[in-house]
Amino acid sequence: MKILNSIKDIQDKLLEWFDENGRHNIPWKLKIDGTNPQSRELIYPYPIWIAEIMLQQTQLKVVLPYWVRWMNSFPDLNALASADEQKILLHWQGLGYYSRAKRIHQASKLLIKLIGKSSSIVPASWPVDIEEWKNLPGIGRSTAGSIISSAFDLPAPILDGNVKRILSRLIASHKIASQDQKRLWKLSALLLSEHRPRDFNQALMDLGAIVCTPRKPSCSICPLQNSCLAYINYDPDDFPKKEMKKRNPLEEIGLGLVFNQYGQLLIDQRLENSSMGGMWEFPGGKKEPNESIQETIEREIREELGINVKTGKKLLSFEHSYSHKKLHFTVHLCEFKSGVPKAIASQKLLWVDPERLCDFPFPAANTKIIYELHKHLGIKNKKFKITTQSLR
Ligand code: SF4
Repeated sequence: MKILNSIKDIQDKLLEWFDENGRHNIPWKLKIDGTNPQSRELIYPYPIWIAEIMLQQTQLKVVLPYWVRWMNSFPDLNALASADEQKILLHWQGLGYYSRAKRIHQASKLLIKLIGKSSSIVPASWPVDIEEWKNLPGIGRSTAGSIISSAFDLPAPILDGNVKRILSRLIASHKIASQDQKRLWKLSALLLSEHRPRDFNQALMDLGAIVCTPRKPSCSICPLQNSCLAYINYDPDDFPKKEMKKRNPLEEIGLGLVFNQYGQLLIDQRLENSSMGGMWEFPGGKKEPNESIQETIEREIREELGINVKTGKKLLSFEHSYSHKKLHFTVHLCEFKSGVPKAIASQKLLWVDPERLCDFPFPAANTKIIYELHKHLGIKNKKFKITTQSLR
């Protein structure tokens, strides 16, 4: 692995750039009194840990309002460990990858066992060993490294998406980053400053977010341009090598909004061990060949809830993409005809007033339906509004 210039030179340049240009206002990296940490001072690990899990697969500006709301509702480890899982899922609604929320909850209980309730607000009583963090649900090596370096200013390397990109460009790796992990981890550890590990890791993440961006990196203002093989010898846009992505298949889904005679709506809770387990949804399912979408809705509801419904007016249709598939939803209002609803393919069924839908955690696709339904029924939507903030 060829590195241009000395490690000390790379560290100095990056830290100098960070001092001038880094994102020093990230709220979970501040001390409890809101000021920037002095070197080696401990920062309360709880807010950092929550932010790090939210940041997996999600950008900082998206995470920020979710994190603020989370900290208001679950300000410390004890509050989180004793919280109801439905409330936790409701706070995660819209962030996607819902298993992360469940794992945070599981991890909070394990952490309480590890450090005790009373000492959980003392930064020094939290684990500082990378393996102890990695043993907690939802925490991999990079997340553990980021928590340890951010909270305790200890030299633990990281390798998130931003860092992978910078390091792949520095050494002009011709491999796909996911197939070059060993080398990139080695480089991350090699470059890490022993004197300012917290700042160094943050500097890498900030450089990736502000300068060494996925497309059209701003190499002309980059502090590492003299050490970057991709910049010197190639087009940095070509690094890291991209994985060939398979095109996600499009599936047709029909959903029914089933009303009873009291104007209540039928919702079902997904099985605990399924994807998005514990979340609520509207009944329906996948369209079979040679079936109209109305027939799909009526059949699925008959099979999964044991009742007969008659589809009425179409409320909306839209596409929603997941990491591995793309779904096209068609949603119809339905009239309940006969039968007794049974949770055949779900863990629970409820009749709820449409105004109360926002009190239940629904996957993102379903929140679009709730929004349209409320508009249709003239209900003011009191759903938590997520606004992005001005952090870069
Ligand atoms: Fe990234 Fe360009 Fe800097 Fe290299 S010179 S690290 S490609 S921004």
